[in-house]
Amino acid sequence: MKARSIRFRLTAWYFSVLAVSLCLFGAAMLVAMRQSILHAADEELEARLGAVHRFLERKVPRLDEEDLEDEFREHSGLEPGRDLLEVREPATGWSYHSRGMERYNLAPPAKVALGGEPRFYTAQPKGSRLRVLEASVTVGEREFLVQIATPVEEAFHALETFAWLLVGFLPVVLAAASLGGYWMSRRALAPVDAITRTARRISAENLSLRLEVPETGDELARLSETLNDMMRRIEAAFRRMTRFTADASHELRTPVSIMRTTAELALRRDRSPEEYREALEQILSELERTSRLIEDLLTLARADSGIVDLDLQAMDLAGTVRDACSQGEKLAKGKGVEFQAVVPKGRFPIRGDPTALRRLFLILIDNAVKYTPRAGRVEVRLESRDGYAVGEVRDTGIGIAPEDLPHIFERFWRADKVRSREMGGAGLGLSIARWIAEVHRGSIEVESEPGKGSAFRVRLPREPGDGGGRA
Ligand code: ADP
Repeated sequence: MKARSIRFRLTAWYFSVLAVSLCLFGAAMLVAMRQSILHAADEELEARLGAVHRFLERKVPRLDEEDLEDEFREHSGLEPGRDLLEVREPATGWSYHSRGMERYNLAPPAKVALGGEPRFYTAQPKGSRLRVLEASVTVGEREFLVQIATPVEEAFHALETFAWLLVGFLPVVLAAASLGGYWMSRRALAPVDAITRTARRISAENLSLRLEVPETGDELARLSETLNDMMRRIEAAFRRMTRFTADASHELRTPVSIMRTTAELALRRDRSPEEYREALEQILSELERTSRLIEDLLTLARADSGIVDLDLQAMDLAGTVRDACSQGEKLAKGKGVEFQAVVPKGRFPIRGDPTALRRLFLILIDNAVKYTPRAGRVEVRLESRDGYAVGEVRDTGIGIAPEDLPHIFERFWRADKVRSREMGGAGLGLSIARWIAEVHRGSIEVESEPGKGSAFRVRLPREPGDGGGRA
């Protein structure tokens, strides 16, 4: 038994409660039985006192002391169990002792004052036990002191036997109950031990291990299910994290090896200043791309750790979208793609972080231009719908296959890795865009048809309530 195990504590509590209850019960029983014995004896004594009183009333006016004594002897001899009687008349000194009374040699009934209240007490003469009633009885002008007794030895003996039985059996009952209690708590808590054993075996290497769920449907079954759910979430998060780390390292390795190769090639022999410049420009372009990637990784890492360093404030979304569009227009122009922006003229007030929302629209516009061939068309719209600001970026580009649609917001996911990388994408843009929308309590939806084009729709509540803020 472990010192502080629940099993031990349950058994100890069970033992204590049972011990106290049994002791209280035993004590109450003994007191009640004793009271009942005394009550029965006292009732009998009272009845006998009444009989003696009536007897004296009948006999005293007619008989002298000697005859009275004979009458008493005859009277008490006739009724068995009624021979414990003593009657005295203090005025004359006359007295009668039954034979039984002589045997016990009780103290004479001197304690009751004449005319006083009757008195009951228990005496223990010669190893026996008697219940005694002392009373004064008035007959005409004469007063008698009467002492009547009844043996209660047998009843008290039975009571003591019962008390000893209680004392003797109490430890046995308690020991048996405690063992039973220990066994029951052991049985009830066995699933907890199983949970502990399995939980001990779970580590980063075997996160797929699950606890056995007992079919009882009780608290322990619910606990196992809850822990299993938690394990599932931890495992998914752990897998996401390891995949993210692996993908990030992979993405960083490519530009680093390009820069290294370029530098090594340039240094292999003497080169003209133009050749050096070209190599440095190539390295610079890879560096720019790498620092963009690192920035994106940092944004997502911060998002994962719950850091929301956005400053949600009253802002004009139309201005922000116009700003993103003017940059998008340049990109489109460079690629020979037609660009159109339909943005309300005035202010479009919402609560949000202008820098983050500008980044969100730039990601969508940049993608639209990237995945739309020359002579295609990109259109950006901003309007208000059902209390939401709805921004739409629509293109006539290559589109997204239906089976790819569920994945496009996943990190590092790209429909065509080589092509996307060539265009400078690492597959993080849409993950970041969705995160920004969610921090604003908004969402992003996409509709796309391969070969025809795509439409990304951002919905942002005009009043995001307590959604985010600087964390
Ligand atoms: P990337 O940096 O590769 O553009 P994103 O997360 O922005 O990463 O996009 C993920 C993938 O979704 C892209 O690689 C591309 O396959 C697809 N995609 C995103 N936007 C569009 C679009 N407007 N048209 C076609 N495909 C798109």
